[in-house]
Order: sequence, then structure tokens, then C-alpha cells
Amino acid sequence: MPNVQACRKCKRLFNAFGEALYCPQCMQESESKLVEVKDYLWDKKIASMHEISQACDVSIDQLKEWLREERLSLADGATELLCEKCGQPILTGRYCAECKDKMLTDLKSVTPKKEMKVVSVTKPARDRERMRFLDSH
Ligand SMILES: [Zn+2]
Ligand SMILES: [Zn+2]
Repeated sequence: MPNVQACRKCKRLFNAFGEALYCPQCMQESESKLVEVKDYLWDKKIASMHEISQACDVSIDQLKEWLREERLSLADGATELLCEKCGQPILTGRYCAECKDKMLTDLKSVTPKKEMKVVSVTKPARDRERMRFLDSH
């Protein structure tokens, strides 16, 4: 089921599937911008966010978003992007490799417990009720 949502960029309403934040038009514009930025970087090899922003007419916020989405990556030694957990400089994504590793192990140790709870408490209880209902008729 699509839900009507306001585009984060142009504020137009559109039918969003999943977690889309932008209308199809803005999405397309942003995709072609990304290609432009990549082309620019391909030629320049290395450029600051400010340079890219000016040369390709794209906002720093947009560049940061692409970095967070791991669609762009900073050059070695860059400090513009920080790990959201421990604050050390990273080149792409939201977390440094260490925090990612840690979160992955945390996730692994948490997820099975959660799944077990769903299986052993919620579902069988409902099944039993239905069985009883069928039995009594
Ligand atoms: Zn839009
Ligand atoms: Zn970190």
C-alpha cells in the first residue's frame, strides 16, 4: 500500500513506496546529480566538499547524505565525516569499522533472543486458542 508523503526536498505530495523520502522527480534529479559529482571526481581525483558543491551546484548536505548512504567516499585522511557512535573520522557510511563490527556482534546476540520470544510466546498461544475453539465445536 502506497502512502502519501511530502517530498523532503520540494514538499510536493507523492505516493511513497517503502521509505522513500523524495518524490520520483527529485529522486531522479538527485541521481543525475550524483552521476555529475562522480564524473567531476573522476576528472579531479580529489576535491573538497566545498569545491564539489560549487562545481556541481549541489548542497553540502546532499553530499553528506550520499556519504552516509555509502554512495560517495572521502579520500584518506579526510575529517569531514565522523562516526555517529564514537566520533572518529570515517570515509563513508555512518559508523567506523570498529563500531560497525561491534554493532554487528551486538545485533547477532540480540536478534535470536527476540525471534525466539515471538515464536514461543505469541504464535503458539494463538494457535492453541484456535485449536481449543475447533475442539469445542
Ligand atoms: Zn520532490
Ligand atoms: Zn566508531
